[in-house]
Amino acid sequence: MSENLLRVQPIRNGTVIDHIKSGRGRKILEVLNLSESGTTISLLMNVPSKKQNRKDIIKVEDRELSEDEIEKLALLSPKARINIIRNYAVAEKKKVEIPEIISGTVHCSNDNCISNNERSATTQFKLLDSENLRIQCIYCGRKIDEDEISFL
Ligand code: ZN
Repeated sequence: MSENLLRVQPIRNGTVIDHIKSGRGRKILEVLNLSESGTTISLLMNVPSKKQNRKDIIKVEDRELSEDEIEKLALLSPKARINIIRNYAVAEKKKVEIPEIISGTVHCSNDNCISNNERSATTQFKLLDSENLRIQCIYCGRKIDEDEISFL
């Protein structure tokens, strides 16, 4: 286990989300609604890091993240790393990655968009730029920047 993970009190089973963009941890807790999940959640903020100057870490006990949650996490902090912990050891490491098509996780800001008006329509966005996060609605063409993203 890396030095950084040791800062977090070990958990038996669950997920450690590491290398979260500093200051973004609270928003991730909120968007993923982790505090409602009924398991123990810890948030570490402004942890010194070699790769970034500072980072946040979230520890979620007894739970792994769903595909939708990982997609939201990627949009909130593309450099985050997911460590799945089983029996006190890192069983699996995952990089998060913003998919080319973001489906069913982001709300289109155009009120007239079909995705807001057809009950059966699933929102779909195309990834335009992953560095300076920018996505585009497939239905209406609305472009949305990182600050404007609102999650479903
Ligand atoms: Zn749209």
